Amino acid sequence: MMGLSTKARGRWHQIMPELGIDARFLKKKNGPCPMCGGKDRWRFSDLGGNGTWWCNRCGGGGGVALAMQFTGLPFKEVARRIEHIIGDAPVARPRTGAIGRVNTRRPQRAVAKRRPNTSL
Ligand SMILES: [Zn+2]
Repeated sequence: MMGLSTKARGRWHQIMPELGIDARFLKKKNGPCPMCGGKDRWRFSDLGGNGTWWCNRCGGGGGVALAMQFTGLPFKEVARRIEHIIGDAPVARPRTGAIGRVNTRRPQRAVAKRRPNTSL
């Protein structure tokens, strides 16, 4: 099973507004913190699509940590909401056609060429 942060990777700009964090906070620019306000103590860096953020007062972390801190909900509940937002559809599975078609490629056998054992 895939971890929550793996599933949510690269999708925080979709997830955060659904959790109540306005899109204007999701910028790679210093600004007010969605949790404690201020003027320029906050930054949403989203490194590697992991929703990373930093606030000089609240601390920082990844997208899941932000969702928890912003909503004040326990991990389980936050995970449930995020899963709901991104849906349960697997990311890397083609949906069109080929139902039940299984790739039956035989594993390549290493052909070990035996040298003729010439005993002279
Ligand atoms: Zn803050």
